[in-house]
Amino acid sequence: MPNATKVKLKTTPTKFEVKGEAWVIQNPRFGPEGTHYHTYGMLTPYFEGLTKGKLLGTRCVNKKCPISKGKSELWLPPRADCPDCHQSMEWSEVKVPAGYIYAYTHVKAGGTGLEIETPYYQIDVKIPGVATIVKSYLLDRKPIKIGDKVRAGFRSGKAATHTSLDLYFELV
Ligand SMILES: [Zn+2]
Repeated sequence: MPNATKVKLKTTPTKFEVKGEAWVIQNPRFGPEGTHYHTYGMLTPYFEGLTKGKLLGTRCVNKKCPISKGKSELWLPPRADCPDCHQSMEWSEVKVPAGYIYAYTHVKAGGTGLEIETPYYQIDVKIPGVATIVKSYLLDRKPIKIGDKVRAGFRSGKAATHTSLDLYFELV
């Protein structure tokens, strides 16, 4: 069992190409001939934002939306279209990317392909102003409890993986 106080990733930066406005990720899961390609499509700004240390969500600004009435909280992970009225959503930065632990799981052993070194805490985070509960992982290995305050951290520059693992949380 690793005794480092901070969780490390077992992954390496994922290569990507830019096609139009979208990133196309190349994941060589089964060697060079088994590279899996997939696009982030309209959600590319979210992943690009992480590599710049920004947490971006989307909000519905449609005044005729039956739920948000144009005053939506942020959705995170973002949606390209509003789940309630199916109109395009607007991008907006989470100004204070911090909140508290809403729920957690202590992962002691992972299945094949897990890219986070165990043990670690898989955490659900409630961020004020965000409509959804954000699922991520905690960098710290200290014992935690529900309600503990956390803030977002980002893998940027050469540390960026270009995946959702570029977002993590640390205890405040
Ligand atoms: Zn809507």
